[in-house]
Amino acid sequence: MAGARHVTIAGAGIGGLTAALCLARAGFAVTVLERAPALEEVGAGIQLSPNASRVLIALGLAEALAPVVVTPAGMDVRSGPSGALLAAADLGTEAARRWGAPWWVVHRADLLAVLAEAAAREPLVQVETAAAVETVTRAAVGFALTVAGGARREVPALVGADGIRSVVRLSLGDAAPPTFRRRSAFRATLDMAAVPAALRGDRLGLWLGPDVHLVHYPLRAGSLCNVVVIIGDEAPIEGWRAPGDPAVVAARLAHWSGAPRQLVAAAGPWQRWSLADRPTWFGRGEGAATLLGDAAHAMLPFVAQGGAMAVEDAAVLARCCAAAPDDLPRAFRAYEGERAARVARIQSLARRNGAIYHLKGPAAFARDATIRLMGGRGLLARQDWIYAYRP
Ligand SMILES: Cc1cc2nc3c(=O)[nH]c(=O)nc-3n(C[C@H](O)[C@H](O)[C@H](O)COP(=O)(O)OP(=O)(O)OC[C@H]3O[C@@H](n4cnc5c(N)ncnc54)[C@H](O)[C@@H]3O)c2cc1C
Repeated sequence: MAGARHVTIAGAGIGGLTAALCLARAGFAVTVLERAPALEEVGAGIQLSPNASRVLIALGLAEALAPVVVTPAGMDVRSGPSGALLAAADLGTEAARRWGAPWWVVHRADLLAVLAEAAAREPLVQVETAAAVETVTRAAVGFALTVAGGARREVPALVGADGIRSVVRLSLGDAAPPTFRRRSAFRATLDMAAVPAALRGDRLGLWLGPDVHLVHYPLRAGSLCNVVVIIGDEAPIEGWRAPGDPAVVAARLAHWSGAPRQLVAAAGPWQRWSLADRPTWFGRGEGAATLLGDAAHAMLPFVAQGGAMAVEDAAVLARCCAAAPDDLPRAFRAYEGERAARVARIQSLARRNGAIYHLKGPAAFARDATIRLMGGRGLLARQDWIYAYRP
């Protein structure tokens, strides 16, 4: 599959596989090189806001996703310590009406399976597993890659979708490591039957507290509940990801109201992630190489947009490539130019939200009063620019 209309993608995560499908629909042959021996995702959920679900629907994946996604009826924002409801918003029919596409929550493994099956059915896409890209250097035409266990290969065009610690980004000259943002995420799931009655059901919950917040939502036709607890933290853990100690989560919620404490007591096993981001790489591209998703602009999860941005990137990249199929360096620069401001704005919103969610004392009191005043509708209206986006 060599030739000008061939793109190689490093990384078969949400971003890499969506990009492969979008590029194939635009007529490109795509090889995806994935480091892992099999395509798999962490055992946790992900929110797909309308700006992302729209792209997956346009790819024709609505039917395959229907059995595995949940459309939450609404979102409730509460004070963790008092349990008081600060705001409630409709997400079900209201999201589709307001933003023209549904708000979905889905188990990552289910989403990746649907993307992988679609890629397997797509004659123009070839996915190779156990194929870690180790080095990238410029070649006479395009790039030369060394791939684990394989020979050196030359590719005409390369997209690095290899996550926050991207080898492609490093090879393209950015050796700066991700910045630890003094937060850790603890993630777990539990059977919905074990969720305290007050929190059971089809709503998404966001609980705010001093130096800690909690998000929960249903998965797998409402049979499972996904729980994420984010805490303030001093230093990253070794390897950035490790099993999480339930006692650490419980201690952070010791002064919280009963329902969220019961929720975390029933959940597990926990995984712990040290949270980091990286400045957007867009603006530094040269030749027929570019980056996408976390490799290009890893962000904190406090607007739930990292995966959505990878999906948007994929759609914009394919559109730009379709507009200049015989000049991919030009197409890649057009894509980077179109994405740079939007992803940077969302990165900074994520950092700001992280600070606001964890306020203490009088500042927390003022935040809660503001949220009450705005109401659920007002909170979501502020994010119209995110969710109404059409790549
Ligand atoms: C706690 C938490 C909650 C989140 N919640 C949400 C949410 O609700 N909504 C949302 O949109 N986003 C959310 N995110 C962000 C989202 O998970 C990421 O932004 C998204 O997974 C990025 O996808 P990606 O494909 O760019 O990278 P990744 O998912 O990191 O995939 C990279 C792929 O590349 C492979 N790879 C790595 N190195 C190499 C190599 N050298 N060669 C070949 N392959 C390689 C990896 O194995 C992997 O398969 C959350 C993140 C966290 C931490």
